[in-house]
Amino acid sequence: NQVKKKLIAGNWKMNGSLAANEALVQALRAEIGAPGCDVAVCVPAPYLAQVQALVTGCPIALGAQDLSAHAQGAYTGEQSAGMLKDFGVRYAIVGHSERRQYHGESDEAVAAKTGAALAAGITPIVCVGETLAQREAGQTEEVVRRQLAAVIHSNGHCISEIVVAYEPVWAIGTGKTASPEQAQAVHAVLRAQLAHASAEAAARVRILYGGSMNAGNAQALLAQPDIDGGLIGGAALKAPDFLQIISAAR
Ligand code: PEP
Repeated sequence: NQVKKKLIAGNWKMNGSLAANEALVQALRAEIGAPGCDVAVCVPAPYLAQVQALVTGCPIALGAQDLSAHAQGAYTGEQSAGMLKDFGVRYAIVGHSERRQYHGESDEAVAAKTGAALAAGITPIVCVGETLAQREAGQTEEVVRRQLAAVIHSNGHCISEIVVAYEPVWAIGTGKTASPEQAQAVHAVLRAQLAHASAEAAARVRILYGGSMNAGNAQALLAQPDIDGGLIGGAALKAPDFLQIISAAR
């Protein structure tokens, strides 16, 4: 478990511009050196080509924030895994809580998108997490297990190729982080669920924490035995903060 290379993935969400993206990636490139972990930035779709060019020759992988479950056809506004591959995309966030909340993505839709990414050789970063009401009702474990179960059941033996991100909804963009112990407890549940699917999945799948991870709290979170990296929103838009989180994952 401790031998897995950690993954620090930035989720820019719907932020950025040609000018801001260039400044951010140049600042990252200038300082990143040879990171001791895998690094990715998940950018808005219109900027994939721009950021693909900006990260060329440096150890930052390109990621998307969503993808279609379908390969092609009459799906206005969607991007297929094949289209993302054309731009060098290595990772795609799937089932982010903002997609689940604002776009009604069901567990089944998230599972189908996961399959579309895997079929194209894109690593899906599958997000799971409970709302505050669910946590307070004692349903955290049940909710994340249900969300991950849908993905496991429809993706079978490919499941060891995914990345999971545990993102408690109450911690996203709120400045309220899960404590390292709270996060570890849920990561252990997810690890056990993966182990039930296959020993290989339990050993290989990286489980990221997401939810107000920042330069100050990253080290303590990343020190937990089942926390294999981070999915970073707000702090990924500030080069010094993102770089500090990358350093904490060495
Ligand atoms: C996210 O949206 O994936 C996220 C973790 O955001 P933040 O770091 O801003 O809480």
